[in-house]
Amino acid sequence: MLRIVMNALRTGVVTTRYPAEPSVPPVRFRGAPVLRPGSHLPPTAVCPAGALSERFDAGGRHVALDLARCVFCGRCAEDPWAGAITMGKDFELAARCRADMRIEVVAEDTAFVRAGPPRDPEAEAARASAEIHRVLGRSLHLRHLDAGSCNACDWELSALLNPVYDVRRLGIDFVASPRHADGVVVTGPVTRNLETAVRRTVEAVPDPRVVIAVGACAASGGIFGEGYASAGGVDRVLPVDVYIPGCPPRPEAIIFGILVAVGRLSARRPPRS
Ligand code: SF4
Repeated sequence: MLRIVMNALRTGVVTTRYPAEPSVPPVRFRGAPVLRPGSHLPPTAVCPAGALSERFDAGGRHVALDLARCVFCGRCAEDPWAGAITMGKDFELAARCRADMRIEVVAEDTAFVRAGPPRDPEAEAARASAEIHRVLGRSLHLRHLDAGSCNACDWELSALLNPVYDVRRLGIDFVASPRHADGVVVTGPVTRNLETAVRRTVEAVPDPRVVIAVGACAASGGIFGEGYASAGGVDRVLPVDVYIPGCPPRPEAIIFGILVAVGRLSARRPPRS
């Protein structure tokens, strides 16, 4: 017993303070690719996930990156394109609209265009718990739904409940029944076998509700795409409120996305009197 107490004292508090304080990812962590304008950008064929596209106009070649498809493999940042694209550390990438996940670099120019949600994670953190309670009068309850994932995103979601990430400190929890939930967190592409189950699960959540697509597969179909066995991303079946890119997204990226979703929920639901 004494040894357990000593170990606990030696270990101290392991829980992250994110999002109240910035999180520093590990050295080898790969965040969103950063495209350098005006550089020799790779042909779109190098991307195995189909995340790169291009178009030509009078201004030259425009290369666009679809974060919803990117699996952050780093292939486009390898030689001979290492200077043109680098793998960044940014993981706060969640967006409310599919179009906001598109980053376009205008060649022969220094313009870097990024459409996306306003990025102020510290302000989001300060408001998070109070906002959840103001809107709901209690914690935010989410139902996790695996629509056909490889389980990588599911592991990262599970990590949210461990002592390191402990999302309950933010007033967020997971429940077993959609009827007890305020929203659904979906992982994986929607397999044809589960298409009806996904619809019915989301419809069982009382309205208003939020639908959060976690990971590249849920956001766009990912490397599975669309076919006889896969319907593609969740938005092929149901409206999605927040997209969280990554393959899989790290736990802090999911926390950030849920906080973005809380803003969406409060926009629909009047505060409790
Ligand atoms: S990191 Fe990989 S998936 Fe993402 S754009 Fe580059 S090659 Fe494509």
